[in-house]
Amino acid sequence: MLTMSAEALSEVTTRIFRAAGAPDDVASLVAYSLVDANLAGHDSHGVIRIPTYIEQIAEGDLVPSARPRIEGDRAGLITVDGAWAFGQYAAHVCMDLASSRAKEQHVAIVTLVRANHIGRLGEWAEEAARAGVVGMVATSWGGGPYAATPYGGAGKVLSTNPIAFGIPLGEGPPFVLDYATTAVAEGKLRVARAKQAKVPDGWIVDKDGRPTNEPEDFYAGGMLLPFGGHKGYALAMVVELLSVALTGADAARDDKGRRNGAVFLAIDPSAVRPLDEFRRAATEINARVTGVPPAPGFDSVLIPGEVEARSREVRRTEGIPVAESTWEAIQAAGQSVGAHISV
Ligand code: NAD
Repeated sequence: MLTMSAEALSEVTTRIFRAAGAPDDVASLVAYSLVDANLAGHDSHGVIRIPTYIEQIAEGDLVPSARPRIEGDRAGLITVDGAWAFGQYAAHVCMDLASSRAKEQHVAIVTLVRANHIGRLGEWAEEAARAGVVGMVATSWGGGPYAATPYGGAGKVLSTNPIAFGIPLGEGPPFVLDYATTAVAEGKLRVARAKQAKVPDGWIVDKDGRPTNEPEDFYAGGMLLPFGGHKGYALAMVVELLSVALTGADAARDDKGRRNGAVFLAIDPSAVRPLDEFRRAATEINARVTGVPPAPGFDSVLIPGEVEARSREVRRTEGIPVAESTWEAIQAAGQSVGAHISV
C-alpha cells in the first residue's frame, strides 16, 4: 500500500485528465472531486475511477471537453443537458445553479440528463449546505448496468440509486446524508471477493433470488438487495422516478441505451425564517440527538457527515492510502493518453 498526499494525487489526476482532453478548469475540478472522495474515506469514488473514465473517453462515452448546457429555465425549474461531459463537472454546475437560484427565489430544482457518473453525491449536497441552503441530489443509471433487485423480486432491474441531503447546521460540519439505496455499494463486494471473505446476511441474493453470503454468487448473476427491506426499495424507486422519469433521461438516451439522469433540489431556509433562527434550531436538534450516552460498543452518536469530516482531518495529515494495483492502473491510464506519471 502506498500513501500519497492529497496535493500529489490532485496534481497527477489533473495532469491525466488534461492530457485526455479536459480543459484546465474541468480537469482540476474532477481531480478535486475524486481526491476529496478519498479524503472523505470513500475510496470507491476516488482516484480508483481514473482508469474507467479514461476508458470511457476512449470509447466516446465521456466527452472530456464537453460542458453542460441549460436547455430550459422557468420559475424555479432549470433543465440541463449534461452533454456526456464529466459527471462531476455537470453535477457541480447543477448544484451551484440550484443553490444560487434558491437564494433568489426560495426554492429551485435542476434536472440533468445525459450525465456521466457524478461521483460521491455527498460532495454536491455538502456544497449546497456550505452555501447556506438545504440541498438534495439523487441519481440513477436508468439504462443500467443494473445491480439490484427490488424487494420481493429476483431480477436485476435497478442501479444502486444513491441519494444525498446536505443541511447547514449552526457550527461544525454540515449534516450530510449520502448513500446508495442498496444494502451496500458494489465496490464492497469486490473487496470481499478479493479477500475470499463471506459477506453479511442481507447484502445479496444469488441469481435465483436466494439469500447468500458468497460474494462470488453476485458475480455469477446475483443481485444486491435494497437496504432496509421494503423501505429501502421504496426509496430506490423514488430516486429512479425522479432521476429518470421526471428529468426525461429516458427520452435523452444515447444509441447505447444509456439513460443516466440526476435531480438537484435547493431550499433557502431564510425564505421560511431568519437564517440564524434556523441554524439555532438545527444546532439544538443536533445537540439533543448526539447528547445521549453512547450505547455499549460505541464512543458517541455521530451526525451524518461527521465520519467524512473526521476522515478528511486524518488523511490530510497522514496521507491517502492507495493500493499498488490502483496506482499501477492509474499510471497505465496516464500513459495511454501521453501523461507519464511517476511517484
Ligand atoms: P455508506 O453506507 O458508507 O453511508 C454513508 C453515509 O452514512 C454518510 O452520510 C455518512 O456520514 C453516514 N454515516 C456513516 N457512519 C455513520 C454513523 N456512525 N452515524 C451517523 N451517520 C453515519 O454509503 P454507501 O451506500 O456505501 O455509498 C458510498 C458512496 O458511494 C456515497 O458517497 C455515494 O454517493 C456513492 N455512490 C455513488 C453512486 C453514483 O452513481 N454516483 C452510486 C452509489 C454510491
